[in-house]
Amino acid sequence: MKTIHVELGERSYPILIGQGILAELPALIEQSGARGTIALVTDTNVAPLHGARVEALIRGAGRRCVTCAMPAGEEHKRLAQVESFIGQFLEAGLDRAGLVVALGGGVVGDTAGYAAAAFMRGIPFVQVPTTIVAQVDSSVGGKTAVNHALGKNIIGAFHQPSSVLIDTTFLRTLPDRELRAGLAEVIKHGVIADEKLFAYMESNSAAILRKDLDALEYPIVRSCEIKAAVVAEDEHEHGARADLNYGHTFGHAIEAVSNYTRFLHGEAIAIGMNAAGHLARELGLVDDSFVSRQAACIWAYGLPTAWEELSVDATLAAMKHDKKARAGTLKFIVADRMGHVIHRTDVGEDQARRALGAVQASR
Ligand code: NAD
Ligand code: ZN
Repeated sequence: MKTIHVELGERSYPILIGQGILAELPALIEQSGARGTIALVTDTNVAPLHGARVEALIRGAGRRCVTCAMPAGEEHKRLAQVESFIGQFLEAGLDRAGLVVALGGGVVGDTAGYAAAAFMRGIPFVQVPTTIVAQVDSSVGGKTAVNHALGKNIIGAFHQPSSVLIDTTFLRTLPDRELRAGLAEVIKHGVIADEKLFAYMESNSAAILRKDLDALEYPIVRSCEIKAAVVAEDEHEHGARADLNYGHTFGHAIEAVSNYTRFLHGEAIAIGMNAAGHLARELGLVDDSFVSRQAACIWAYGLPTAWEELSVDATLAAMKHDKKARAGTLKFIVADRMGHVIHRTDVGEDQARRALGAVQASR
């Protein structure tokens, strides 16, 4: 088992990573200091696969536990679901001494985390992520949120978990498409911060895609280390944390123009990273070999690097809309070499257009 510490002063917390380490959960619950009832929050896909085992573990440690399962799917990550959870917490007798355990993917983590942040002005929560996205990204960093009809993740709070338990054996039941999409974020971590991680992803795609848990451990650990370091430096995203948005300016827009149905998040990010690669070349920061190397790695994981039906106009409009909604400038995170990124706010519309044009057809 590997332990990584997210250093945030009094909000610091450990991330435990390993195969079959779920048994550590009661100890983490103890360490949180919460003495009351535990709400085990999950979704309707994860509950039948893993819910009973986790609930039994919590009860076996002598704690009261109520399981609250939300319908699976991004469309249920909304305020009405938070209100429903809070009703279930109250009915089960949770009070300020209570604790939420979030068992599931990013949808569960974000929704449960926000419910924990809002309930009685905040109770602790433990993240037990079960998807790649959640194990390498969403469970670490304390961003919790639900969607609004007018925008994703608009209603939210920074609420750090009291610990994160990453048992990689949960991945055995994860659908392949979800696995591949999550790996886009791992490739991203390599591009933004660690050429060695990127090279590992290039060399080990076969083992990773067959869910060899030994092969998966290093990229999960490195991803958590990279994310933990970025979050420790910039908890509330004033600067460095934006590195994690590599591929996301383009990717979010692609998700929006495809109505969030055509691509999983990681798939849109994969195309977005390829667009960011073309933009970096356009800006003279990297040469063709960077673009083709990144694309080949994305491709090796069965992820898309292009979208033939992409409308450059619509995607650009979505990027501007996103910028307006978040009151920011249009900022692009671009690589100047493998393993390092810089922020550019001076990108011309014609340059962004050419980068998008390049992912209409290119590999
Ligand atoms: P998800 O939570 O929807 O999970 C994907 C699917 O896999 C769901 O159908 C789920 O029920 C199922 N599933 C989960 N674990 C499983 C398992 N072990 N076996 C079988 N099925 C399983 O999606 P996700 O990709 O994990 O997360 C995406 C969400 O995360 C988005 O809402 C996104 O906004 C959010 N996110 C948040 C952050 C953050 O910093 N808070 C970062 C990245 C993404
Ligand atoms: Zn992402």
